[in-house]
Formats: sequence, C-alpha cells, structure tokens
Amino acid sequence: MNKGVRRCTRCILPESYPDINFDSNGVCRVCREFDHRYLNVDWNDLESKLARILDRYRGRGKYDCLVPFSGGKDSTYSLWLLKNKYGMNPLAFNVDNGFAEDGAQQFIRECAGKLGVDLYTYSPSKEFLKRVYSHAMHRTGEFCTACVVLIPTAIFRAADIHGIRLIAGGFCEKTEAPPSRYADMDRVRFWNIMKSAFSRKELSWDFFFPSWKRMFRIKYFNLPDYIRWDLREIHVVLKRELGFEKKLSDIRFDCLATPHSNFLFRRIAGFSKLEYLYANMVRAGFLCRGEALDILEEREAGGLPEGFFDFMSEIGCKRSILCETEGRSTFEYSARLKLIRKIAIRIREMLP
Ligand SMILES: [Zn+2]
Repeated sequence: MNKGVRRCTRCILPESYPDINFDSNGVCRVCREFDHRYLNVDWNDLESKLARILDRYRGRGKYDCLVPFSGGKDSTYSLWLLKNKYGMNPLAFNVDNGFAEDGAQQFIRECAGKLGVDLYTYSPSKEFLKRVYSHAMHRTGEFCTACVVLIPTAIFRAADIHGIRLIAGGFCEKTEAPPSRYADMDRVRFWNIMKSAFSRKELSWDFFFPSWKRMFRIKYFNLPDYIRWDLREIHVVLKRELGFEKKLSDIRFDCLATPHSNFLFRRIAGFSKLEYLYANMVRAGFLCRGEALDILEEREAGGLPEGFFDFMSEIGCKRSILCETEGRSTFEYSARLKLIRKIAIRIREMLP
C-alpha cells in the first residue's frame, strides 16, 4: 500500500481512482454520489414491490427461482431469506472454476443441506478454462475477464435448462460495485479478445447466451436493491443459522487466483480491488476507516504475490509474461455500445 497517496477522508479511495475529485472537506465524488442515491430511499415501498415480484413467480414449477450461490455472505443470506422469510423454493446454483479456496465447495454443499435447498454445481473443464485464461492473459495482461463473462452466462444457462423464469441475485451494489470503467466487460469485447484463438462454437456454451429471445424470458434482480442490506445484521443471522465463521471484514470465499488477479488489476488500473471493496464497506458504515486502512496495509504489500509465476505456468504462461504484456489491457478491444447494454439490462429488470 502506498502511504504517500491522497485518500478520501470518509472512505479510503485513492486519488488514482477513475474520475475522482475531492470537495473542500476531502470527501470524494463516490461518497457524495452514494449519499445522493441512498439517503432518501423508501425501503418499505421497495420491500412491498419485492413481495409482489416473488408472489408472481411462486409455485410456477419445481423451483420458484434460481439463486447464484458463491458461499459468500450476500448470496448465502439471499438464499436464507428467500427460503425462510419469503417461502420460496430456490435452486442454489454454483460455478466451480476449479480454483476455489480450500473448503469453499464443502461449505457450499453443507449450507445447501442445512437450508434444505437443491444445489446445482457447474464445473467447466479446467483444461479448457486454462486455455481461455492463458489467451486472455497474453492479449490483455489479465485473466479474470473469462470468469466475468462465464459466470453470468452459466447462471442464465442454468435457469434456462431448469425452466426457471426468475433469478434472484445477491449482488450488493453498495459494497461490491467496481468503478464503472472496469465493469464494462461484455460478450462483444470478450469475443474480440478471443477470436484469434477460439472458434465461436468452442466458446458458445460457456460464454454466450443461447438467444436474446430466451434470455428476455428470464427476469433478473438483486435482493439488496429491495431490502435494507445491513451487513452487521446479516453476519449475526448467518452465524446463528448456518454457523458462518468468517469475520465481517472477510469479504468472501476467494478464488485461489485472487491475489494474482489483484496484482494484475493494480498494474493496469493504478489502484487495487481491495481498495475499492473496503472503501465501499467504509462508506456504507460497515467498517471503520482505520480498520480498512490496516487491512489494506496487511494484505497489499505490493510487488509480486507469492506463487505468481507458478500460477502463470499452471495456466500456460511463461515467466516473460509480464514483459510481454506491459501496457496491455482489455480496453484495446472494442465493446458493445454502452446504450445497447443498458437497454438490455433494463428490459430484464422491467420484466414483470
Ligand atoms: Zn470517499
């Protein structure tokens, strides 16, 4: 962690964050936008909207909805809420990319068992994924791109396969949102990166939706957009009901590649993923600023993470990979027009 960096006096965002500016009190643009967005939200009204959505989908088939389930606090709580508070019969869905932290898959199975919900895990071939990661790494200097596209595709694919028309996600914008500039990986950009090494057919099952028409039959929403998402309370419930052991500041079950992908992200972006994730938690009031800075100092020593070149070698990249990819990024490849993406997302949200 670079100590000389200027940071927001409320959250911890550094001056290298995209389009940041500070007011006369040193508070950043993101904090000001956060207040504007959340201070006057009518949560009671939103919660009754949520109840109406769930009523509409309950009892339509074997499963009422699909819940993407990573074993982290947000998705676990979403599953618990839907099952126990709203009386839904959700199908829990998990993608195992073969790089999950020790114990994550077992925790996921045990949780689903305790909650009494069916669990469907999709594990794409690890060899195939490594080829995709390797190509992405060579072309763009990072490899996370592959999962960013794979996971939502697999979620929609799973809902489609099971005839489920509602996906209830646990993505919490308040605490998880990346800067918008880094959230625009889409299938057009992904294809532009991949097409020199893969055929469309090879990638289509894992990375592309079957058709717009089929996708627009499925409604997608995130529970934290409708419910006051209080991490402290969530943590208490998960401890009591499911024996959740992680600390509130332990964000999730990490992929084993996370330290390496964080390092590569920081190399490209000039700030780290942990910086914005912990900044989000501080801004939302779930962590003290000082505590977040301490965690950053401990976890962001800078420099190459341990085992970096072993991991690179495992996915098929040589030691020269950092020199070969100096200055590269996904931004070299064009993406779908932003407006078209926004409209597509909006249509899925607007489905009754
Ligand atoms: Zn701030």
